Amino acid sequence: MKELDTATLRKYDSDYLWHPFTQMSEWEGADNIVITKGEGSYLIDSDGNRYLDGVGAIWTNVHGHCKREINDAIKAQVDRLEHSTLLGLTNDRAVMLAKRLIDIAPEGLCKVFYSDNGSTAVEIGVKMAFQYQAQTGHPEKTKFIAFDNAYHGDTVGSMSVGGIDIYHAVYSPLLFPTIKAPAPYCYRCKLSPEGDCTRCGLLCLKELERLMERHAHELAGLVIEPAVQGAGGMLVQPEGFLKGVRELCDRYDVLMIADEVAVGFGRTGSMFACQKYGITPDIMALSKGISAGYLPLAATLATRKIYDAFWGAYADLKTFFHGHTFTGNPIACAAALASLDLFENERLLESLPAKIRYIDERLKAMSALPHVGNVRQEGMIGGIELVADKETKAAYPWEERVGVRVCLEARKHGLFLRPLGNVMVIFPPLSISLDELALLMDGIEASIRTVTG
Ligand SMILES: *Cc1c(COP(=O)(O)O)cnc(C)c1O
Repeated sequence: MKELDTATLRKYDSDYLWHPFTQMSEWEGADNIVITKGEGSYLIDSDGNRYLDGVGAIWTNVHGHCKREINDAIKAQVDRLEHSTLLGLTNDRAVMLAKRLIDIAPEGLCKVFYSDNGSTAVEIGVKMAFQYQAQTGHPEKTKFIAFDNAYHGDTVGSMSVGGIDIYHAVYSPLLFPTIKAPAPYCYRCKLSPEGDCTRCGLLCLKELERLMERHAHELAGLVIEPAVQGAGGMLVQPEGFLKGVRELCDRYDVLMIADEVAVGFGRTGSMFACQKYGITPDIMALSKGISAGYLPLAATLATRKIYDAFWGAYADLKTFFHGHTFTGNPIACAAALASLDLFENERLLESLPAKIRYIDERLKAMSALPHVGNVRQEGMIGGIELVADKETKAAYPWEERVGVRVCLEARKHGLFLRPLGNVMVIFPPLSISLDELALLMDGIEASIRTVTG
């Protein structure tokens, strides 16, 4: 294979590639960064420039880029078996990973159904819940509660349970209808953990209860991003909210589907957000961090109650008729196993509290900046919302794309960042060092000061 120089790579990218979530008229012909290497917390481009990866390879990276132990596990696996199938066969790596996942998952989850991305992991959960109801004598329970501002992926089923209009509105005729619950934060200030906003949280639970009471007879399940609405802007849920949701699901006999695609695998400081907040969902979707950012892999975990509803003679047609070609891919599973070993061997979770405290300190300090409307944090996730007017919290006009401009400015400080609208996102590899974290926060702060004047 012949290596290409930067100019040729850019040209071919413009000529042949269609990028996700990208207006290509702005992309084609621009001097886009071509990443050719990774090293720890850094991405390195085709000209040798280094960027601290502030968004952890779009929220997937755990142990840093090109981590030797994971590289070695993948190389070893490639020489043993690249892929077979879980249809009519099993493979050692898929089996070993399933056991490991159940060992660390919230108590009560006992079965692993693999797929290969977050959208399918959620969609599988939705189909499982739907079929569960049909096969346990409740064919009338077919609807789902979803939250405003939620993001669960881009396939038609996962979009249906999403709630971000800018992404989903154009497809609305394609989507199945859901019952929308208000997002659990104050719509004005976007904050939840303090002051008035705790009241908003409680109001949300009250509204959710009202919806459940009215619709219980027709509800199959509820889909939620536990602890944080990620793509919706890193919005943190109020204390007690998740537990409240679990209690309501129990009371009204609604299956709780927890989408831990973004928050799973240590991101909140606990292995899973549901554990941090003391609940077990009926179904849990995992992806992003599962293979430490290496390979497409996802898993939907279910409790015994769910699994048993699919049990029967073949002719009963209770089988879960779903499966993807690359389900249980042994190379991806080997990467995930190596990642779980690293969690243990490097005591990764134990290393997080100091970093989480540091992010907290820096965010608190940044909240005083004149155009920072508020800051939010959940473990190793941070969000900084930029506003036109600090007093009224009036947003910047979206067309001004202040968030994008801050990210471009941050490149001058050696950072790669990706915003959510006007929210600056902090989502580095969990393995980031305190010194690197300081560079990240310094660079973000300086870039916000420059762009917002
Ligand atoms: C990223 C994400 C998804 C979708 O995952 P893909 O792998 O992009 O399909 C679903 N849910 C949440 C919470 C996510 O952050």
